[in-house]
Amino acid sequence: MSEDKTPPKDDPYEDEPPHTYECLNCGNRIKADRQPGECPECGGEMRNISKPSER
Ligand SMILES: [Zn+2]
Repeated sequence: MSEDKTPPKDDPYEDEPPHTYECLNCGNRIKADRQPGECPECGGEMRNISKPSER
């Protein structure tokens, strides 16, 4: 059988931190190792923009 090149992880989308997150509400950008949850400026939803949408 073939071997897996990557170890099993809970979140396959996680690359190397820190990731850049952008607030969907005010556009504030921060770097964080993981999903910050909400924008520290306005409490809006943060979206990870550091990972490319396509390759
Ligand atoms: Zn915000």
